[in-house]
Amino acid sequence: MQLPLYGQKLVVASGLLLGLCLAGCSPSASNSQPQLSPNPATTTTNLDKKVKKVVLTTFTVIADMAQNVAGDKAIVESLTKPGAEIHGYEPTPSDLVRAQKADLILNNGLNLERWAQKLYNSVPNVPHVTLSEGIKPVEITEDAYKGKPNPHAWMSPQNALIYVENIRKALVNLDSANAETYNTNAKAYSQKIKEVDEKLRKSVSVVPADKRYMVSCEGAFSYVTRDYGLKEAYLWAVNSEQQATPKQLEKVIDIVKKNKIPVVFCESTVNDGAQRQVARESGARFGGVFYVDSLSPANGPAPTYLKLLELNINTLTQGLEEK
Ligand SMILES: [Zn+2]
Repeated sequence: MQLPLYGQKLVVASGLLLGLCLAGCSPSASNSQPQLSPNPATTTTNLDKKVKKVVLTTFTVIADMAQNVAGDKAIVESLTKPGAEIHGYEPTPSDLVRAQKADLILNNGLNLERWAQKLYNSVPNVPHVTLSEGIKPVEITEDAYKGKPNPHAWMSPQNALIYVENIRKALVNLDSANAETYNTNAKAYSQKIKEVDEKLRKSVSVVPADKRYMVSCEGAFSYVTRDYGLKEAYLWAVNSEQQATPKQLEKVIDIVKKNKIPVVFCESTVNDGAQRQVARESGARFGGVFYVDSLSPANGPAPTYLKLLELNINTLTQGLEEK
């Protein structure tokens, strides 16, 4: 029997999901995450969706960037929720339905979304654009990911300017009628990113050179440390594991002790137990969490990309300044 096209798509989608689950379905961290409180400014109606293009992103950070460029001319939504673990995410049946209905999908690339290719295969008619295109990758130098590009390119404001330009081009290409708005918004938003870039440079410049260390759970700051003259140390390269091995613990404890680093941090989307152990055993303080792979919910401390950057700068410099 010939199924209608939509039915066929759903059959393909269910088959894909079954395949994904057979490959190893673990309970998704995102299921227990708080929902983003509806923001009246971005609440969309079905009428909006009929007249505006729908842009779906793989995670909240790039959704916020894209929303700043789109303004009120396109609807931007993130597939994963605030607080979600995004590296090993498992798309749900409703994710596939959302992807089928989108006009464009924006992703990070650099192997961040290891699940994205399967998603694209299930929605071959929906175009997707990789926002890290054009950045200079930093290679991971240890663990199972050795030799692969570090995926966290958006964490450097320098790279974020490239992301914004890629978003602008993608939106103009998708919806040329609103090109002028996208061009104007991209310019204004890039200006705000440059202001944070300047602030980050100034903040780092007042930290004594031998204290310019960023110690985190995940190796998510390789681009920030490269672009802003800091050094980094981390427990694991990518958040695929959340339990540090004794070797990983020992490595960071050694670096912290040798360099007399006063403070260590973890990220908001993982358990900070291992880093607290580093703090206890090295004599450093535990300085709190950085936001990296996800924004906070709207009422949290990092509801936008710019706030995420500022929060991280402040968390780092306050931690390094405290005696
Ligand atoms: Zn990450």
